[in-house]
Amino acid sequence: MSSKSFTPLIDPYARRVRDLRISITDRCNFRCTYCMPEKGLQWLDRAEILSFEEITRLARIFVERFDFDGIRLTGGEPTVRADLPVLMEKLSSLHVPSTGLPVDLAMTTNGSSLRLIARDLKNTGLNRLNISLDSLDPKTFATMTRRDHLDKVLDGIDAAIEAGFSPIKINIVMIRGVNDGEIVDFATFGRQMGVQPRFIEFMPLDADGAWNIDKVVPADEIVERINQVYPLSPVVHGPEPAQRFAYQDGAGEIGVIPSVTKPFCANCDRVRITAEGKFMTCLFAIREFDLRKTLRSGGSDDEIMDEIQAAIGTKWAGHSIGNVNFVRPPRSMSQIGG
Ligand code: SAM
Ligand code: SF4
Repeated sequence: MSSKSFTPLIDPYARRVRDLRISITDRCNFRCTYCMPEKGLQWLDRAEILSFEEITRLARIFVERFDFDGIRLTGGEPTVRADLPVLMEKLSSLHVPSTGLPVDLAMTTNGSSLRLIARDLKNTGLNRLNISLDSLDPKTFATMTRRDHLDKVLDGIDAAIEAGFSPIKINIVMIRGVNDGEIVDFATFGRQMGVQPRFIEFMPLDADGAWNIDKVVPADEIVERINQVYPLSPVVHGPEPAQRFAYQDGAGEIGVIPSVTKPFCANCDRVRITAEGKFMTCLFAIREFDLRKTLRSGGSDDEIMDEIQAAIGTKWAGHSIGNVNFVRPPRSMSQIGG
């Protein structure tokens, strides 16, 4: 059990930062059009990627020294990293000082390997699962992911349910003219399967640079289209990016993430570490802090803490997608860790 003494991380806008996203690989077995290019992305060398020991050490500092209560593993596709349950086991032993509870471990995955590892992940401490699924139609799915794997992902969702994950959230990136005809179908799917759809507005982080505002389906429109078929009521909740709505007939919930039309920056409590150990204080940050360098040059925990605190001092008020002064970050989504 960890000691009770910790330093809350507070950014220049008085936001308490306590949620860490760790990308554990830049590689992926899909090539989603809104994320990766079809070809040509340069992979990091194995030696450049943080080892499980390095990831666990950084996670321990965030949890035990700064009282972080949530860690989400992402990528790239986290399940392509070998021995993932071993990492899960190491991270699940971390306890949040202020509560004494285990850290809330979550993962975002494209679901294609869950049939093989869902049970092991559950047994080694993974608490929550988001599975990405952009279309229920095999052709649209293959167009969006550039892979013909809809059946595998649906089977992965079944495997996650069988393994006992609950709730399971289904991440859907909505793109105008591509999958926006399926909004109500996803609501029906969620109600039947007992999973929660989370509709995400398309953000300008696609490697192909094809994003434009006309391709964004506003969250309000998504909620209204579902509400017409299955009446919804808003759910009151704490600071989190998703706006949540419950079906009035009690058949579950949906969430929408209006990152473009109504950014949640004012309540942002997140930071990120990329697969090669760069610390980013925003998904759209231009400046990065090289924690791997400090780790590999024998830096102490106190030195790493100082570096994290200095970086938090640069966390900005928010991004400005859609405004003339918006600058696209040099990395695309799979190279940051969404
Ligand atoms: N490979 C895993 C997956 O797809 O779930 C984890 C990494 S992926 C980068 C994390 C999440 O980011 C996924 O739900 C994905 O749909 C979302 N995402 C990727 N590119 C996006 C974009 N340009 N705009 C909005 N969401 C995006
Ligand atoms: Fe891979 Fe996830 Fe990006 Fe799709 S969204 S290409 S599955 S990292």
